[in-house]
Amino acid sequence: MEVLAVNVNNTLNEPSFRESVEIMFNRAVALMDLPTGIEEKIRVCNSTYTVRFGVRLRGEMHTFTGYRSVHSEHMEPVKGGIRYALAVDQDEVEALAALMTYKCALVEAPFGGSKGGLCIDPREWNEVELEQITRRFAFELIKRDLINPSQNVPAPDMGTGEREMAWIADQYRRMNTTDINAAACVTGKPRNAGGIAGRVEATGRGVQYALREFFRHPEDMAIAKLSGTLKDKRVIVQGLGNVGYHAAKFLQEEDGSIITGIIERDGALFNPNGLNVEKVREWIVKHGGVSGYPDATHHAEGSDVLEEECDILIPAALEGVINMGNADRIKAPLIIEAANGPVTAGADEVLRNKGVVIIPDMYANAGGVTVSYFEWVKNLSHIRFGRMGRRQEEARHQLVIDELSRLDEYLGDKWSMTPDFKEKYLRGADELELVRSGLDDTMRTAYQSMREIWHSRDDVQDLRTAAYLAAIDKVVQSYRAKGL
Ligand code: GLU
Repeated sequence: MEVLAVNVNNTLNEPSFRESVEIMFNRAVALMDLPTGIEEKIRVCNSTYTVRFGVRLRGEMHTFTGYRSVHSEHMEPVKGGIRYALAVDQDEVEALAALMTYKCALVEAPFGGSKGGLCIDPREWNEVELEQITRRFAFELIKRDLINPSQNVPAPDMGTGEREMAWIADQYRRMNTTDINAAACVTGKPRNAGGIAGRVEATGRGVQYALREFFRHPEDMAIAKLSGTLKDKRVIVQGLGNVGYHAAKFLQEEDGSIITGIIERDGALFNPNGLNVEKVREWIVKHGGVSGYPDATHHAEGSDVLEEECDILIPAALEGVINMGNADRIKAPLIIEAANGPVTAGADEVLRNKGVVIIPDMYANAGGVTVSYFEWVKNLSHIRFGRMGRRQEEARHQLVIDELSRLDEYLGDKWSMTPDFKEKYLRGADELELVRSGLDDTMRTAYQSMREIWHSRDDVQDLRTAAYLAAIDKVVQSYRAKGL
């Protein structure tokens, strides 16, 4: 389950999260020549369903408020996680749903954008209670086709994980006993309930692949005044939940980066010689926070460490942690947004003017939905991904070739399989290998599409605007193809 790291400066009069996303969208569309009307059609959120339901717990009735917002249905199903947090409200789910639209478009996952949330502190309830609450929330959404394999496919987000997805999938199956595609109603399920290898780590893995891609381009590094490789780069990560933990762990173990700072909800750790991510994670799981961890300087105010010198800053928790209150004190030359919306529109401007390079959320954290897409395809194809026994393998060979061409044809330019992925698929590589190579291909291709715009247009100075331009263009193309 994701761990929250609260660090938001609410005292400043900044636009809301949804407004902040709109400001960024507006900056990009101002550089496009879109037909009248379509700009507004893409900007607005199509619908937000609010539900209040009661669950009898601990001898009394408790009322919960949940949301499922659909931002754009230019492609269906629409896709996006379900968040469990006390701060969940309509503004937040609408902002997150909009980001899902652009994220899916950018990485060519053939989905529209959606997001859900339940206003709850999951730590206040035990597992049995959470199951009751989740099943009841899922029941309300399933009734309205807001969870459905062909219309709306949720996934984990902050405060939820495989366990909640398994409950949701089971609830859907109970209510739709004849739906052969029931497993595809939600992604991020455990492996034994139709999930796919590598989904839990996928968002963190995507952050690693995104950084590797950035570090393959000396010209891009030079803009951030960086050079060399990821080895020995000093990294500060904010939030050691599912995303931050995996990103930091992979960078430390596989790329030789030095994790100098870790910021959590109860404070932050700093050690210029590097913190052991695995050990810090174990400490947090055991003690409920970073407090008392040896081998590090402790900071009661996590935000102090956000402002420390480093090469790469990874905000991997909540939105708005880098805001007008601290943007001018951020020293990192490169920020990669592992969380959704961690930099407010105002802070984005301050940082841009300072020459900080920001690898934007819609690209940086797209690993999750990319692997969700593989899971959804796996569920719909009813064929196991990856290696099988020799005899089964031979019998499967033709089936797989047929299936690949059918998928290629169905998905068309929405996602063309790269030769590397095809080779691995046909060879019968194991599922994890397939998932990793598909994710790597996706992150590289999406980076190229942003990069090309970033470097070829004089009016585009930053990767976020480039990402919006690439994404909006794809959404427009699919509206055009539909004749809307
Ligand atoms: N919640 C994740 C995100 O914000 C994953 C969404 C999905 O897999 O559908 O991208």
